Amino acid sequence: MKIVFATGNKGKFKEAQEILGPGYELLCPADLGITDDIEENGNTLKENSIIKARYIHEKTGLDCFADDTGLEVDALGGLPGIHAARFAEVMGHAGASHDFQANRDVLLAELAKHPGEPRTARFRCVVTLILGGGEYYFDGCLEGRISEKESGTRGFGYDPVFIADEFPDRTLAEIRIEDKDAISHRGKSLRAMAEFLQNQYICINEESKK
Ligand code: IMP
Repeated sequence: MKIVFATGNKGKFKEAQEILGPGYELLCPADLGITDDIEENGNTLKENSIIKARYIHEKTGLDCFADDTGLEVDALGGLPGIHAARFAEVMGHAGASHDFQANRDVLLAELAKHPGEPRTARFRCVVTLILGGGEYYFDGCLEGRISEKESGTRGFGYDPVFIADEFPDRTLAEIRIEDKDAISHRGKSLRAMAEFLQNQYICINEESKK
């Protein structure tokens, strides 16, 4: 089955391909000549993932899915939230949009203003799937806390400052990619979607036997 993943992130693409397995031919927008920067102007993760999935569906007519992730830090009242990708810019650092290092620096600096408060945080991910014209949503969450300083070189984004509850003595940037995928917010959403797709496939096969 052919399905488009509305992402330009090669790491996410590989992760999704591994989770979906060989029964799915995964395409990215660039494979179809789409290189547009889709404006994510929704107010929630779900809205943003819907915007991306609908955009690709309208352009291609193909089944597709999109994800959107946010980082909630309790001591910051839930920030960066949906602004995770451009936290530095939102906090007044002009020109720092989508700069992972700047976002991490600003996050640690903001948390330093809250000494003694818990550093608990979580990633939340919403995947929107458009299949046969119907729309379906899948959530995933990863609980943890923000480290005092950066550590590790793997992964991307906030990985060097995020310590998952499952690996309490290391940041996500210090654990193996396979271990991260097994517990991550996006891994959970994608596996829920994969299970749904598998069930749909079984239903279609059962119907065709009648
Ligand atoms: P996106 O919606 O997946 O593009 O995620 C928005 C932002 O959240 C990214 O720019 C990253 O900074 C951050 N982010 C998303 N997923 C992860 C992750 O697995 N590890 C670390 N940071 C992430």
